[in-house]
Amino acid sequence: MARILIVEDEVDLSNLLRSHLEQDGHEVAQAFDGPAGLALVDRHRPDLVLLDWMLPGLDGLAVCRRIRERYLMPVIMLTARGEEIDRVLGLEAGADDYVPKPFGIRELQARVRAALRRGAMVAGAGAAPAPVMQGTLRIDPAARTVTVEGEPVDLTRTEFDLLLLLVQNAGRAFSREFLLERIWGYTHDGGGRSVDSQVARLRRKLGLLGERIVTVWGVGYRFIDRPA
Ligand code: CA
Repeated sequence: MARILIVEDEVDLSNLLRSHLEQDGHEVAQAFDGPAGLALVDRHRPDLVLLDWMLPGLDGLAVCRRIRERYLMPVIMLTARGEEIDRVLGLEAGADDYVPKPFGIRELQARVRAALRRGAMVAGAGAAPAPVMQGTLRIDPAARTVTVEGEPVDLTRTEFDLLLLLVQNAGRAFSREFLLERIWGYTHDGGGRSVDSQVARLRRKLGLLGERIVTVWGVGYRFIDRPA
């Protein structure tokens, strides 16, 4: 069971989502415009936000960006706009997933479950630094060691932090700007290129496994859960 915030101005749709999510055992809060949504994020710290794109007050993209300035909880964007460019914009704003309207309620429930699983991994990362496994890759955050097929891989501090973030959030795309801020703690002109060169070095050091760090065109990078 999780706390879920629905930010959606179509009242009927919002209520429908609420009743299904409550049947799944979740605790649901509703906001019907952008500013109210942001206020509820601050007040309730939901585990997940379902965020409509077209909203009065402040649109979903702006709300998503503001959430991402302060929080890591998963955000699923709901939208009637279906163009690829919108998906890219949504991911760039920090959304975890993107569900075009109209959608089936079962599909949305499945996406919510998947996003909550990923969210739990993000939340748990700081508390208990258990080793992270992906296939033959093993990262030990406590010892700060990485092995592939049991063989140690020598990484710099930056490469290690970058790999850990990507693997802990496997499947999620991160923008270059987000990675810069999270890993380097600042942004600067041309910073995207330093991310690119770090990723290139990391891929080389990881060999075949490095191919699972994929470029998300127009956005940044993502570690894929399993090879394509
Ligand atoms: Ca709307």
